This record gives sequence, C-alpha cells and structure tokens, in this order.
Amino acid sequence: MIYDLIIIGAGPAGITAAIYAARKKMNFILISRDIGGQTAWSGDIENYTGYQFVSGPELVAKFEEHLRKFEINLKENEAVTELSKSGNIIKVKTGQAQYQAKALIIASGKRSRELNIPGEKEYKNLGLTYCATCDGPLFQGKDVAVIGGGNSALDAALQLVKICSRVNIINISPELTGDPVMIDTLKESPNATVFNSSAVKRINGDKFVKAIEIDFQGKPMTLAVSGIFVEIGLIPNSDFASLVKRNEAGEIMVDARNNTSVEGIFSAGDVTDVPEKQIIIAAGEGSKALLSAFRYLISHKF
Ligand SMILES: Cc1cc2nc3c(=O)[nH]c(=O)nc-3n(C[C@H](O)[C@H](O)[C@H](O)COP(=O)(O)OP(=O)(O)OC[C@H]3O[C@@H](n4cnc5c(N)ncnc54)[C@H](O)[C@@H]3O)c2cc1C
Repeated sequence: MIYDLIIIGAGPAGITAAIYAARKKMNFILISRDIGGQTAWSGDIENYTGYQFVSGPELVAKFEEHLRKFEINLKENEAVTELSKSGNIIKVKTGQAQYQAKALIIASGKRSRELNIPGEKEYKNLGLTYCATCDGPLFQGKDVAVIGGGNSALDAALQLVKICSRVNIINISPELTGDPVMIDTLKESPNATVFNSSAVKRINGDKFVKAIEIDFQGKPMTLAVSGIFVEIGLIPNSDFASLVKRNEAGEIMVDARNNTSVEGIFSAGDVTDVPEKQIIIAAGEGSKALLSAFRYLISHKF
C-alpha cells in the first residue's frame, strides 16, 4: 500500500497536520512514539490562545479528542528509525514495519537534555522544569536555580530575575558562554548570583523541590531553592532523518512553506530550524506543512 502521506510525531505539530489531513480526506497514517509530545510534560500552560489556563495533560486530552473525532490510522508506540526515497516514493522504517507514501511530514519534536543526577526524575514538574518561558511565572517571589551557562540559560535567568527573589545560575564552565550583551545585563541584576565551575550533584525536597546540592569549585554547597530550571539544551528528534538537510544543532532545515531539502518531505514544529519553540507555533507550522504537502500531491503525477 502506498499512502498519500505519512506524518511522524503526534505532538501539537503532528496532531494539527493530521486533523487537517483528515478533513481533506487524505489517505494517510500518523506514526508516533506517544500522543502529545512535550506538551504532556508541561505543568501549566497560560499562552495557548483560547485557554487562559490549561494543564499540559488537559490540553493533550483536548488535542487527542479532536484527533479521534476522525477515523485516523494511528500507529502509536511506534518509533521511526530510518527514511529513504526511491523515485517519488518515500519509505519510512519503524521498529515494527516499513511504510510507503508519496509525501511525508516530519513533526518529531525535541527532547530536553537531561542532567542525569539523583532527584531529577522524582522532581520533574514538582519544582524542576525545562522551560522558563512556560513555568517561570509559577515561581514569583521565590528563590530558584538555573542550570546552564549558554544563551538558553541566560535567557531563562533574565526572565526569572524580573519575577523571582533570587536566581542562582549554576554553570559548569569557568565562564558564562552566552552572548556578551546578555551576560552584561545579568551582571547588572542585583538578585542574580553566578556559580561558575560548578556541577550539580543532587536535587532534594519533600513533595516539591527544596534544595540543590552543587560542587562549587571543588567545595560541596547546598542552595535552598523552590524551583530548578534545567537549561542545558534541547535535542531534536532527527537522528532518523539524515536524508534531509539539518543544521549544526540537528534541526531539520525548512523554508517558509515547510519544504525540506528533499522534494515531497516536509517538516514542522520543534524539530525544525524555525525560531521559537512553543505549542501554538508548532500547531501553526503543522497546519502549514499539511497544506504544502496537499498542494504538492495535487500538483504532481505519481
Ligand atoms: C516542560 C515543558 C513545558 C512547556 N510549556 C510550554 C508552555 O507553557 N507553552 C508553550 O507554548 N510551549 C511550552 N513548551 C514547549 C512546547 O511543548 C513545544 O514547543 C511543542 O510541544 C512542540 O511541538 P512539536 O509537535 O513540534 O513536538 P513535540 O511536542 O516534541 O512532539 C513530538 C512528537 O514526535 C514523537 N516522536 C519523536 N521521535 C519520534 C520517532 N522517531 N518516531 C515516531 N515518533 C516520534 C514524540 O513521541 C511526540 O509525540 C514546553 C515544553 C516543555 C518541555
């Protein structure tokens, strides 16, 4: 069977693409490891239009309800491992099977780089988060720690100094490595403290985060904090997509119409080099990618 389209990933980008595809009555399959992607890990969402406040799991339930209104050929708990193209036909290999289609949308998102230290798993969403833009406002007036020393850590710290009482930046390198302008701004913030050459050892707490143990230039130190923002980078889920051009960060490069470097293969959301990683942006990009794929299919003979 050769499908019109295969969509990889059921986060906001892939689900939106699938809803548009279903409404266009396309013959397609949606392959995903899970339903919801990163949105499911988000505690409180206050920036998705139409919802003043919604939790990540609630928003995912809404997305899934919308998706399942249609008869979708969903291959859940299946991970794509390889892509290839022969003539006009794209082949998608997973752990379980191989599928073929005339067009493909890659919407496999990103995952946060993790610390891999004791306490990280236990306190995820209980004070430990990977998204300052999303969760920063929950820590108003509190002492927090930002882990990292590059641009994303600085960006997080600069957002947090405006609302938190103290922001401790735990940086493993001897110096901050982000943009000098951001470093200067941070140095001017009276409530920011930078701990250079410092490794995070453990996260402690009861029901919620209470403290972080660090190795500060060779000496053990404990900082009392209510929030921990891990900002040591995000990894695009693009390992299987070496067929298309990716940038140095591993993000799939797309143009304004979501075309990748390979004809018939489109990409959307966090896995791409489109700036800013947010749910509403991923959903919008998913709809754009589908409309481009639809146009591609009607304008090509197979
Ligand atoms: C903790 C946290 C809180 C956040 N809070 C907010 C917020 O409040 N507001 C906001 O706007 N944004 C928030 N974000 C960012 C937002 O979640 C992302 O921008 C958005 O989810 C990206 O959507 P996506 O569909 O591109 O990718 P993802 O959500 O990453 O989804 C990717 C999908 O692809 C699947 N997949 C990955 N690899 C494969 C594979 N090989 N084979 C098959 N399937 C695969 C995954 O299982 C997943 O279903 C938050 C992010 C995090 C981590």
